[in-house]
Amino acid sequence: MSVIDHHVHLYPDELNRDPAAWADAHGEPHWKILCCRRRRDGSPVQLFPSVAELLRSMDAAGVDHAVLLGWYWENHDNCAWQNRFFAECVKAHPDRLSGFATVHAGAPADTVSTELRRARDEGLTGLGELSPHSQGVRLDAAGFLEALELAATWDWPVNLHVTEPLSRPYPGRVDTPLDHFDSLARRWQGVRFILAHWAGGLDVRELPNVQVDTAAGPLLYADGGWSMIGRTVNVSQVLFGSDHPLRLYPKDDTGDGWGRFAREATALF
Ligand SMILES: [Zn+2]
Repeated sequence: MSVIDHHVHLYPDELNRDPAAWADAHGEPHWKILCCRRRRDGSPVQLFPSVAELLRSMDAAGVDHAVLLGWYWENHDNCAWQNRFFAECVKAHPDRLSGFATVHAGAPADTVSTELRRARDEGLTGLGELSPHSQGVRLDAAGFLEALELAATWDWPVNLHVTEPLSRPYPGRVDTPLDHFDSLARRWQGVRFILAHWAGGLDVRELPNVQVDTAAGPLLYADGGWSMIGRTVNVSQVLFGSDHPLRLYPKDDTGDGWGRFAREATALF
């Protein structure tokens, strides 16, 4: 069985060299809080691999194919910058990598349209990880609606960040009310949504156009989230996603824990 990881983040070398300095220089304080943070024991919450390192980690973890997800940047220019980088990655490694495009949900509709058409021409195949809530944008913003229109037209999956309402607070956490996603999925039945992080526990069993991914499960849920199968989500709706390069088992693993989580997933599916 081939293992596909539907939720992987990756950044250009320019950012990897000094992530915090890059965030300061490019106006991304929220990303800096989430991704450059250190745990109480001083260890980093995540690593910053190059493309070559990512491919080697995939081999080690037994992951055949990774879907690269963009970040919900605070500046649209950074979204476009990451899309260009993903286009290069998928062109160089089409057998191992796919890439989803990101946009700022608050950008004007024509800006979003131009950017997504370009990303599609360059080989990207979906939208995400988007989080209008994190960008301080309403779900009826013109740019976000334009993105959904295009996703429906092109049959692009749309990966949305969802925060579990009961999860413990962590620096940079943004509330994403679950009923917003329920309404969105019902209103946009022609869009295939992937609600990240087990949809934050939202019951999606009656929503045929919704899938969930398992990203960051071991960090967010006591049992990794697996017990939600049958309770809030049908097994056919679950996509394996890790949130790599986030360190998934920081208490007992100095590495990324990717292989361990992939093995848990393949044992269950
Ligand atoms: Zn997320």
